[in-house]
Amino acid sequence: MTLVRGRATNGAKLMETCDYLIIGSGIAGLSLALKAATRGSVIIVTKDCLPESNSAYAQGGIASVWSPEDSFDAHMQDTRVAGAELCHEAVVEAVVREGPDRIRELIALGTNFSRRPGGEDAEYDLGLEGGHSHRRILHASDATGQEIIRALIAAVRQQPNILILEKHLGIDLLTSAKPSGAAAQSECWGAYVLALSTNQVQTIPARVTVLCTGGAGKALMNRAVFAVKRQQLRFARAHRIHQQTAGADDRFLVRKQDAMACTRRRKRWNQAGGADDGGDDGVDAWRSDRA
Ligand SMILES: Cc1cc2nc3c(=O)[nH]c(=O)nc-3n(C[C@H](O)[C@H](O)[C@H](O)COP(=O)(O)OP(=O)(O)OC[C@H]3O[C@@H](n4cnc5c(N)ncnc54)[C@H](O)[C@@H]3O)c2cc1C
Repeated sequence: MTLVRGRATNGAKLMETCDYLIIGSGIAGLSLALKAATRGSVIIVTKDCLPESNSAYAQGGIASVWSPEDSFDAHMQDTRVAGAELCHEAVVEAVVREGPDRIRELIALGTNFSRRPGGEDAEYDLGLEGGHSHRRILHASDATGQEIIRALIAAVRQQPNILILEKHLGIDLLTSAKPSGAAAQSECWGAYVLALSTNQVQTIPARVTVLCTGGAGKALMNRAVFAVKRQQLRFARAHRIHQQTAGADDRFLVRKQDAMACTRRRKRWNQAGGADDGGDDGVDAWRSDRA
């Protein structure tokens, strides 16, 4: 695939170009966009409208070493135990040690985490959740994701370097080689994006393309996971996530999906005034699959 003066050879319309193309507008995509915008132009492509994302529904909070009684060693040990000693040590260490700085960044952006009684200068209200030996959960009441996303969106909207394309669905990567064959040597030059309002496929070339499309829920082809949009599955297929994960240990992934499916079902139940709308989250199928 080559680009000829603003038009891909397959005829797809070339709309914009940028240094950084970020697909997805959850906490990952928005945070990255803010950092990338200090180095170049950014386009965020997202299949729905802001703030829609899993991030916006996250409730409980973020674990981070915050109190003087807590320590990085304790948090790392709790993480290893909760991860059944299957975690990558380098990742555990990086996430735990960098946590407080990332939290401070969110606070600097205007995220209002809940405080203990006593006003604006009171200490943050650190929650204690299962698996943690110390109080270390920063939260914004029970809508932490919503509050973080609010602050991130406000910051992103102030950046002239960031263009947000809502209702645009990433459908495939623009690569220097076809998916089969020498995929290992293939370079990514951007992405094909479907504008959902016009049904037009557009080509967005970029120096760097980053997938911030959330979990790999639909990557496991033979699992009856909840009803994530089918397009997301196609995109997952397109960038071959399932090939990388199909042979992987999915014990934790499946449990997480089950929990999230139940949450969605409960939400629909509440919205319907207590009457199940009969929609299939895949929970029943998942249960019978495992029976
Ligand atoms: C109900 C609930 C409660 C949770 N509670 C917590 C909690 O207390 N603490 C915690 O740490 N985590 C919690 N989580 C998990 C947490 O929300 C996620 O791990 C986190 O938000 C993932 O962020 P993300 O940016 O990677 O992905 P997401 O927030 O899922 O964002 C993905 C983005 O990609 C977009 N997208 C996907 N596919 C495409 C495509 N093909 N083209 C264009 N756009 C696309 C989506 O529209 C979305 O904007 C919870 C999750 C849920 C659902």
